[in-house]
Amino acid sequence: METDAYIALGSNLGDREVNLLTAVAEIGRLPDSRVTALSPFYETSPVGVSDQPLFFNAVLRLATGLAPHVLLTRLQYIENAIFSRTRTIRWGPRVIDLDLLLYGNEVIDDEALTVPHPRMMERRFVLQPLCDIAPDLVHPVLERRMTELLAGLTGDEIVKRI
Ligand code: ADP
Ligand code: MG
Repeated sequence: METDAYIALGSNLGDREVNLLTAVAEIGRLPDSRVTALSPFYETSPVGVSDQPLFFNAVLRLATGLAPHVLLTRLQYIENAIFSRTRTIRWGPRVIDLDLLLYGNEVIDDEALTVPHPRMMERRFVLQPLCDIAPDLVHPVLERRMTELLAGLTGDEIVKRI
């Protein structure tokens, strides 16, 4: 059985475009999984810790047979082993950040994993690329389409298509 998972990618260190492309390729090599959509890449202003380089962000859809916690562990392996990411400042600069936004219509909240991702609905750098590939997708908790969530954002973060 396959589920559509949506994954957000972000990078603001090193060659940001190569980092995103490498992550897409690595995610595409996961067992029982294939990338079925990839958004354009965006250059975006950092949220949270603002004194850091601009991010590149994108979202992809993965048709996967991996269970949600297995998928998260695999994403963390890519972050840590492939990119040698070391965790320093939360929301600080990183070579790659991979967040599991949605896993089908599942709602999960435990120590390791919260799905839907708890901050996705307030982030233009997530909702804009998500709307590019899945505008009519409905948020399983908020019961709103992604385009409605994007239209409801009030912040002025810069999200520029590259
Ligand atoms: P952030 O992505 O918020 O900047 P980190 O990537 O450093 O922060 O932290 C990720 C942590 O959040 C991990 O310990 C992971 O277990 C947890 N987590 C919970 N839900 C998710 C999710 N949906 N996607 C990715 N990580 C998640
Ligand atoms: Mg993360």
